[in-house]
Amino acid sequence: MSRSKNKQRYAKKSLGQNFLVDKNYVDKIISALDPKSNQTVVEIGAGRGAITRELVKSAGKVLAIEIDRDLIPILLDDFSGYENFQLIEKDALEIDFKNLLALQNTPIYTKLVANLPYYISTAILQHLIRYRGSFSEFVLMLQREVVERITAEAGNKERGFLTVLIKAYFETEKLFDVTPKAFRPAPKVWSSVVRLKPKAAQEILEPELFREIVSLGFGQKRKTILNNLKNAKDQLGDLIERKGGVNVVLDSVEIDKGLRAEALEVDDWFALSNSLSQKS
Ligand code: SAM
Repeated sequence: MSRSKNKQRYAKKSLGQNFLVDKNYVDKIISALDPKSNQTVVEIGAGRGAITRELVKSAGKVLAIEIDRDLIPILLDDFSGYENFQLIEKDALEIDFKNLLALQNTPIYTKLVANLPYYISTAILQHLIRYRGSFSEFVLMLQREVVERITAEAGNKERGFLTVLIKAYFETEKLFDVTPKAFRPAPKVWSSVVRLKPKAAQEILEPELFREIVSLGFGQKRKTILNNLKNAKDQLGDLIERKGGVNVVLDSVEIDKGLRAEALEVDDWFALSNSLSQKS
């Protein structure tokens, strides 16, 4: 083991470090991602390079992001010999992916792969929504419950704000589960790998309004959509009032007022938020 590798023996819990050590799962992730020599792949949280090691062999360019300074020498030791490798020592949440990729002068086939640090996976998903236009697909490892939540169909109790937000912008496909034994240290929970493909057409007139209405609709999960929307305040409250009140608004888009938010399809949420938009 080289000197730089001795610099970090222990995983940092605070950075969600559960390193993938089972090569079978690395291979499954790589084959799901299928990186090609004319493609750029961004990896969030390169860690000790379990996934990076395979990426540099097949992708045209690898942009590996890692926040932990102690891992930087390890990654440089292992990969600086590869011309297609670039290390970005930064918090992924602070990265403007549009700018980053514009600087690369890369083709449009940019993919993103990550064994995400679970403590910020929701924040990263929301960050990636903003930059979805810069990527052709994401292959992400997340906590199994999070994957179950974001892939839940209408009517499933797991369905929530994040499900609707993700499904509004992506086609989602759960790929496979990963046992805790595949990591070191082993996490307490199972993980799953999911593929997210940005939808080409966008049906949301006002993204902020959409977020607000979905968030309010799921406010209290046991309540009906009608009762949750009655809690609208400020600008949203005014908008609903101007359109004749919650009952009228729900009737106008043919949403059954007795339903709970989890029963609504993504198209219902589009119709609801667009009906309130000034742009409609
Ligand atoms: N890709 C490696 C693997 O599969 O073994 C490491 C995965 S580990 C679950 C998550 C990695 O993300 C860690 O290396 C951690 O330091 C890094 N990380 C945590 N927070 C981050 C952030 N905000 N931005 C970039 N990397 C981060």
